[in-house]
Amino acid sequence: MAFHIPHIALGDKLWLLHAAAFVYYITVSVIFLTTDLYITIPHIYADYDFTGILLRYLLTVYIFFNMVANHVLCTITDTTYRNREDPDPVPRAWGHCMTCQVHTPPRTWHCSICHNCVLRRDHHCFFTASCVGHHNQRSVNGVYTSIVAMTDSIQKIATRPGNIGQKAQVVLQILKDL
Ligand SMILES: [Zn+2]
Ligand SMILES: [Zn+2]
Repeated sequence: MAFHIPHIALGDKLWLLHAAAFVYYITVSVIFLTTDLYITIPHIYADYDFTGILLRYLLTVYIFFNMVANHVLCTITDTTYRNREDPDPVPRAWGHCMTCQVHTPPRTWHCSICHNCVLRRDHHCFFTASCVGHHNQRSVNGVYTSIVAMTDSIQKIATRPGNIGQKAQVVLQILKDL
């Protein structure tokens, strides 16, 4: 697996969007982490015993680390299809990218933001400043599942018995107690 530093350079017309997406991502992740550590675990899981609470803390830190590590992996994994030798002969199913001037395997698409062809390109991700494709889809799934796991505060409150008003009261009470 090849690693690369994202080539979204300052001066690129979309660098501000990438920077804003990155700041947004960091802010939201830190909010989720602090909510879990300071509100969910001490208050909502208050009826758990010591081992249960300790496990929740460890799990939360692990999930957060998993999310950050997968995010970094997603960013530094080279998903581009370039500098590769053409097979001889070039299979009939292969395409040709006019911009990159290379023959490309099936299901390769050119990204006009990365300025490269990407194998099994899904979309360009502004949060990781890279294209989601064949080589980093595993890390992307890791990020997605970790984010879902980090929202357990919301799930835990949402699945409490009672109507929305009562649930809101629980949240307000917790915030008051902080
Ligand atoms: Zn291309
Ligand atoms: Zn891209």
